[in-house]
Amino acid sequence: MDVMETLGLIGGMSWHSTATYYRLINEEVAAAGGGHASARIALQSLDFAEVRDCQVRGDWDAAAALLAEAGRRCVAGGATTVAICTNLMHKVAPQVEAAIDVPLLHIGDAVAAEAARHGWRTLGLLGTRWVMEETFYSDRLARHGVTTVVPGQEERAMVDAIVFDELTQGVVREASRHRYVEVIDRLAEQGAEAVVFACTEIGLLIGPEDSALPVIDSAEVHARELARVHLR
Ligand code: GLU
Repeated sequence: MDVMETLGLIGGMSWHSTATYYRLINEEVAAAGGGHASARIALQSLDFAEVRDCQVRGDWDAAAALLAEAGRRCVAGGATTVAICTNLMHKVAPQVEAAIDVPLLHIGDAVAAEAARHGWRTLGLLGTRWVMEETFYSDRLARHGVTTVVPGQEERAMVDAIVFDELTQGVVREASRHRYVEVIDRLAEQGAEAVVFACTEIGLLIGPEDSALPVIDSAEVHARELARVHLR
């Protein structure tokens, strides 16, 4: 008999986007199974205030410990595959992977798979400053032959501030939507074929209809990939 998949979600970063994951995964599983079919999920929803405090202090070891423990709890709850439901916290993905004995489904792989489906090789990144400025995320995409471009320094600071001052607190402002749209216009000028919403809350602010470039919404493609794992 096939092993029954249970998806382990390390969420709460923020809960606004974990809710998106929960809905999308269940919608896919319901569509495939019909009736009352829904996903088996072991969710560990962290207190984002604690995680954010680690980020601000630059204490990535403490952040890794929080997420690794959450990963272990997912597995203790029956998870056969684990996912970190945020882009930024994939900075500590190696430590989470080391703490569990089941696969970690990396968000960057889901993004790259979507790019490959469309034949896009140069992607613009919108996300928190670490995602745009460090290499842990772009290197993961590069493994799949994807090149990335990012906004300039002032725009990166603005994009990051809107994530943490607004989106991760559930605040959606029209003025911020306009600012993101302008940044996407410039990513297109830099040669991006598509833009990655490489922060799981950005899809709450803007949609493909607002964007000059085609969109890869990381939360959406990650959740759909998880549903595929559940259904296989
Ligand atoms: N959810 C955001 C992301 O996808 C940022 C929040 C965080 O994890 O710090 O990167």
